[in-house]
Amino acid sequence: MTSTKPQHAPQIHFPVVDDVLQVGGIPLPRLAERVGRTPFYAVDRRVCSAQVATLRAVLPPAVALHYSIKANPMPALVQHMAGLVDGLDVASGGELRTALDTGIDPARISFAGPAKVEGELRQAIAAGVCLNIESGNELANAARIGDLLGITPRVALRINPEFELKSSGMRMGGGAKPFGIDAEQAPQVLQQAAALGLDFQGFHIYCGSQSLRLDAIIEAQSRSIELALRLAGDSPLTVRQLNIGGGLGIPYFPGEARIDPTPLGEHLAGWLPRLAQALPEARLALELGRYLVGEAGVYVARVIDRKVSRGEVFLVLDGGMHHHLAASGNLGQVIRKNYPVAIGNRMAPDGSLASATGPLCTPLDILADRMELGHARIGDLVVVFQSGAYGASASPAMFLGHPPALEVLV
Ligand SMILES: *Cc1c(COP(=O)(O)O)cnc(C)c1O
Repeated sequence: MTSTKPQHAPQIHFPVVDDVLQVGGIPLPRLAERVGRTPFYAVDRRVCSAQVATLRAVLPPAVALHYSIKANPMPALVQHMAGLVDGLDVASGGELRTALDTGIDPARISFAGPAKVEGELRQAIAAGVCLNIESGNELANAARIGDLLGITPRVALRINPEFELKSSGMRMGGGAKPFGIDAEQAPQVLQQAAALGLDFQGFHIYCGSQSLRLDAIIEAQSRSIELALRLAGDSPLTVRQLNIGGGLGIPYFPGEARIDPTPLGEHLAGWLPRLAQALPEARLALELGRYLVGEAGVYVARVIDRKVSRGEVFLVLDGGMHHHLAASGNLGQVIRKNYPVAIGNRMAPDGSLASATGPLCTPLDILADRMELGHARIGDLVVVFQSGAYGASASPAMFLGHPPALEVLV
């Protein structure tokens, strides 16, 4: 039997006073009372602001920072982020509405996604947001709808590069992919964009997510910039935006550490003179989701029962994988590792182990597998840290018909 200690590093953002976790400056039991019921997600706006400020402090001011809404589309959070970043990136008509509702200038919204349907294209073009075009067919569709509406669509080409972000949790570029236009096909699609008279903005190159390796991120950024320079070199169109993605990850599991973004800022600063010369109108942008909000959120569920089965302790919770698929191990498709988990109203462990399981009738509904949670009692609040990104909106809330998790910004 392996024991995994709760990982305390991610709790830095949330102080502990008299053995009780404080979220948004509020003791967790009081926050739970205010929310009204468990389970819930709470995202601390101050942690998000601090994360943006940390990154801004090391990035050259010329580099724009975008928030990728799909990481956490809670409207209150998107509203908060809209006031902190230079742009919002959306991936559906629904996310586009959330972004527009913040009142942000539509010119600062970009829309990527491989299957934009007619209604989404119309909505985006009418609003004046930038479409990150994923294929030649989509470009032709955008032009047709632009003619119909009497609006010149703003477009950038999403490029599928010939390389990938090494060591990333999820590869989104390199090789054969449904995302973006293969770099080899881009010159032809650029000609098409010029012939159609579209309002060309530039390039979007996104090659991966959840990387904790600075050297891999730096290499992918350099290759993305080089690719954009090469494509722009034989194109008649002016590049105004160069979105080189992001891919910065956050630590989830024992042995993982936060990345220090300082070298990233220095690396991008090193590119700026050459970019200013080759693409004088281009603004370099990073788009980040998880890195900006992931550490700011907790998921909180209550211990409904405490059982001992053949010598092992189980904390049975009112929440589980239907709200937090990632912490449960993504339907068993990956080797499951424990997210950092603690008892929020009784933070000090006594060394005894327990597993925390959810209300679903499947052995996959696990939030903690034999962690130091054995001191928990019925009614206690189990906290899953690092839950600000890919939580509620990325989980199968309908599975088994339990109520959805509440979501609050504190
Ligand atoms: C998902 C996604 C992001 C955000 O990824 P994170 O790992 O959350 O930073 C950014 N851009 C695109 C195109 C995406 O699909």
